[in-house]
Amino acid sequence: MTKINCWRRLGAVTAAALFLSGNPSSSGQGSPGIEIKQHARSVQPGEVVWMEARSPQPLKKLEAAAFKRVFPFYPDNTGLHWEGLIGIDLETSPGAYTVELLGMQDDGTALKLTRTLTVKEKRFVTRHLKVEEKYVTPRPELLERIREESERLRRIFASVTPERLWRGAFVAPVPGSPSSSFGSRSVLNDQPRSPHSGADFHAPTGTPVKAPNAGKVVLAAELYYSGNTVIIDHGFGLYSLFGHLSGFTAKEGEEVPRTKVIGYVGDTGRATGPHLHWAVRLSGTRVDPLSLIAVLAATTTTDKPGAAKPQQANDK
Ligand SMILES: [Zn+2]
Repeated sequence: MTKINCWRRLGAVTAAALFLSGNPSSSGQGSPGIEIKQHARSVQPGEVVWMEARSPQPLKKLEAAAFKRVFPFYPDNTGLHWEGLIGIDLETSPGAYTVELLGMQDDGTALKLTRTLTVKEKRFVTRHLKVEEKYVTPRPELLERIREESERLRRIFASVTPERLWRGAFVAPVPGSPSSSFGSRSVLNDQPRSPHSGADFHAPTGTPVKAPNAGKVVLAAELYYSGNTVIIDHGFGLYSLFGHLSGFTAKEGEEVPRTKVIGYVGDTGRATGPHLHWAVRLSGTRVDPLSLIAVLAATTTTDKPGAAKPQQANDK
């Protein structure tokens, strides 16, 4: 049977679940015409998984539903080749998880493919830090401010801009490599706190911080815990947060290209010394920024920095 015939048959069995191999990096053998590939550093908490679908006929829409979240996919200008990023939150328990690829064919017929992601255990280190007591037990009159700021961040990360603003690979915002502190369980002044959801780059105060990819600045403000903070919305539910800046040049509402300076390294807020805290959220999941850099560097082909903006499907 040819691929086209398989495809027509798929249309007849609308929304049939097609079980593909969950083997990372393998293609979806046995699928009726649609080939699925994935790439990740590892399938573990805090990692980004890149997935691509190649279809013999154009699709109008494709997205992945996994971990009770939605991850939008984006097409090339033919609608035959789609890519997307799936985030595995850093507190995901090991186990087998279903990824549903939900799409729509040109004639409006729904499409559903199912794939399994087997998340392996990851052991994060525990780090004991000494910080000013006011950051461990804030004064009661500060609690309202802290609650409002955390609600503001929650609302930002929960919103999905229905357009992809980033292109190609992500670059590190400051020179050098970060300490591998992503996901570490923090104990501040002997009190356990939520896991560290960013990568810390140690750099002198005043080092320029560059946008790791294009996007829109949705927050540039002084927050209690993260000090001077800038958040870039890269679109499609992908966000970068930069904390502890000595100052920022970015303005809320500003569109920034990759490598535009948005601020400077500092030690404002709850910091033990000058460093850049870079956190990434992908459809609400807390993922390692280095995983995002690695996965896109390995899979980016035609979508290189500076390449023409790919055409988006009309309903995006
Ligand atoms: Zn940090």
